[in-house]
Amino acid sequence: MVRESEIRPGEITVDPPAATDAGLVFIGRIHTPWTSRMHTPRQGRHDGPVCRIEVFEPWVPALDGVSRHERLEVIYWLHLSRRDLVHQSPANDGTTRGTFSIRSPVRPNPLGTSIVKLLRIEGGSLFIQGIDCLDGTPLLDLKPDRTLFTPIAPPQEGDFQVAAAAHKPA
Ligand code: SAM
Repeated sequence: MVRESEIRPGEITVDPPAATDAGLVFIGRIHTPWTSRMHTPRQGRHDGPVCRIEVFEPWVPALDGVSRHERLEVIYWLHLSRRDLVHQSPANDGTTRGTFSIRSPVRPNPLGTSIVKLLRIEGGSLFIQGIDCLDGTPLLDLKPDRTLFTPIAPPQEGDFQVAAAAHKPA
């Protein structure tokens, strides 16, 4: 299931426990040209349409310093997704894969993540390229791209541990 909410041949659903959503707070909304899942890109591209991430009050002051970063990790809530599939058929050909082996929007917790190119910030609006969600998708978080970001806080002991010294898994 990646297009609307249909079940495809071979796909497997479960009865999930009632969602509690962990007390998440939607901190904004993502504005894109796409109003149908059938037309939304599978993955955003950095030469794709310019989209706008709107950050709500009282979170706008949290954007201080964000413009230093050319790429951001955007975390969003794929709010129209079903949440009950454990096996999915991305090619709709009867062959299936486990949900955790693919990046389908259908997952027990429908989080989407994209690394986007930051063009500019105006007040509470970030203009970006590289997203793949429907217009109006709720925003959960923004972080600098981890691959370009050196932590500002000093390192901790665990930062220097390598496999031999690490705790043995049970
Ligand atoms: N880049 C993200 C990731 O890898 O975590 C999302 C990838 S997911 C394959 C992108 C697809 O999710 C889109 O093509 C569209 O079909 C679907 N989608 C986008 N916005 C959605 C929303 N708000 N609710 C449900 N499905 C959505």
